[in-house]
Amino acid sequence: MTTTTAADVLSLELSEKVLARLATLGAAVPVGTGVPTRSPLSGGTLFELAATDAAGVAAAVQRAAAAQRDWRMVPAPQRGAVVRRLGELLREHKDTLADIVTVETGKIVSEARGEVQEMIDICEYAVGLSRQLWGRTIASERPGHRLSESWHPIGVVGVISAFNFPVAVWAWNTAVALVCGDSVVWKPSELAPLSALGSAALLERALVESGHSPDISQVVLGDRAVGEALVDDSSVALVSATGSVRMGREVGPRVAARFGRTLLELGGNNAAVITPSADLKLVTTGVVFAAAGTAGQRCTSLRRLIVHRSVKEQVLAKLTAAYSRLPIGDPFDSGTLVGPLISAKAGDAFRAAVEAAVGQGGEVLAGGNLVAVDGLSGVFAMPTIVDMPEQAGIVLEETFAPILYVLTYDDFDEAIALNNAVSQGLSAAVFTRDQQEAERFIADDGADTGIANVNIGTSGAEIGGAFGGEKETGGGRESGSDSWKAYMRRSTNTVNYSSALPLAQGVTFLS
Ligand code: NAD
Repeated sequence: MTTTTAADVLSLELSEKVLARLATLGAAVPVGTGVPTRSPLSGGTLFELAATDAAGVAAAVQRAAAAQRDWRMVPAPQRGAVVRRLGELLREHKDTLADIVTVETGKIVSEARGEVQEMIDICEYAVGLSRQLWGRTIASERPGHRLSESWHPIGVVGVISAFNFPVAVWAWNTAVALVCGDSVVWKPSELAPLSALGSAALLERALVESGHSPDISQVVLGDRAVGEALVDDSSVALVSATGSVRMGREVGPRVAARFGRTLLELGGNNAAVITPSADLKLVTTGVVFAAAGTAGQRCTSLRRLIVHRSVKEQVLAKLTAAYSRLPIGDPFDSGTLVGPLISAKAGDAFRAAVEAAVGQGGEVLAGGNLVAVDGLSGVFAMPTIVDMPEQAGIVLEETFAPILYVLTYDDFDEAIALNNAVSQGLSAAVFTRDQQEAERFIADDGADTGIANVNIGTSGAEIGGAFGGEKETGGGRESGSDSWKAYMRRSTNTVNYSSALPLAQGVTFLS
């Protein structure tokens, strides 16, 4: 006889909650085998979805490729109108979709709604972009010639996303790819397929309502094997993959082997430098949100605090006091600031990292343990601060949990060197009121990261800027600025409107 546990009862409640939300969004739920859906609130399985097999992935790519042949001929502002409609639907269903994100990822309600808001923001950005896909005219060296460049849709974009931003990453890619004239095949994280089904249903509605083929957007479900099938499909022109460095190390060479393009958004190991002139009020809020927010499960989460010796005691006193008051608990409760880790495995990684840090001579100043939360059976980590004697070993790794390592510096050059002496290069911040230090931090010899901030934390980027990082973070840029260029192919065009045919570089031939 099997006994029903409290976790089972909670899983059942959560299943009902997500199924009701998916129905509101008009999403079909492909029940089957291969993709068990889980919630970090209960730590248990909700129900199982059907995984897409290799033939199913190939068929989805072919459907997307066929639909893209028509889509690329739709004027970009009209493509923008579809994205505008998607944005409206997301606005209308913001809380419904956010609830699914909370069930699947354990994100607190405010952050889950923030994630959907980010989807709405990128839609609005992409609508404007749809009227600004420009090319240049360049001075030609030949008389009667015009030299220019034009940008064209690249084709099918494969989007592979991570669990921690289960829907925003798709929206960053998809809103921009759609106005660029591409179609999209999405392989969401196997840890968060339900919010993907909900989001894709809203896009399907926007496409159909505007008289376009729903095939422009495809979703394939499953684990890395499904991702690999997408990666190896030569009809996928661009693979935009977000996840761990390990994943990028595998995906990058596979796509390169078939001369496809990649946009890689991989792990980070982000630092903030706290200088003697820093405004400590900003430091406390900025550091605590960046390090403990989303339970340390953002690619931009703050993991290293590089603090000047003269203010170290003061800074740590403020931070440990703030950490002692952080409410850990049910992400659906409005008072909670720290929800669960994604899985028991993530809990093990948290424990192992704290142990390793202590083994390296680290002193735990706050947190350090997993905690139980009444009524929930997921894995909760106490936001943790560890004072480290040096930057080595575990400090060089990204542990996807709320652990902040403290390092001490005496000289600003040393702080920049510490910031840069890791293999990842996503985000960095300096807290200072000294203009020379602020400028130096973002100068050529400053932080070597894709994002470098002054007087704000490392996380919580706006969509208007290009998002991504250097070194093992993968080098990709998505979202704002000119990231759209990654989703298009560039054609250089020379038009001769004279009646002579002069060759470039003064070469003579048949003349
Ligand atoms: P993960 O690497 O385990 O999985 C990410 C996605 O890649 C999943 O959909 C997974 O199924 C797929 N995948 C894994 N191996 C694959 C392979 N060999 N071929 C094809 N697909 C494969 O990452 P995760 O645990 O879901 O997410 C956490 C990681 O993502 C962290 O390292 C975090 O820093 C990173 N991340 C980076 C960004 C960014 O923008 N730089 C954003 C969010 C998350």
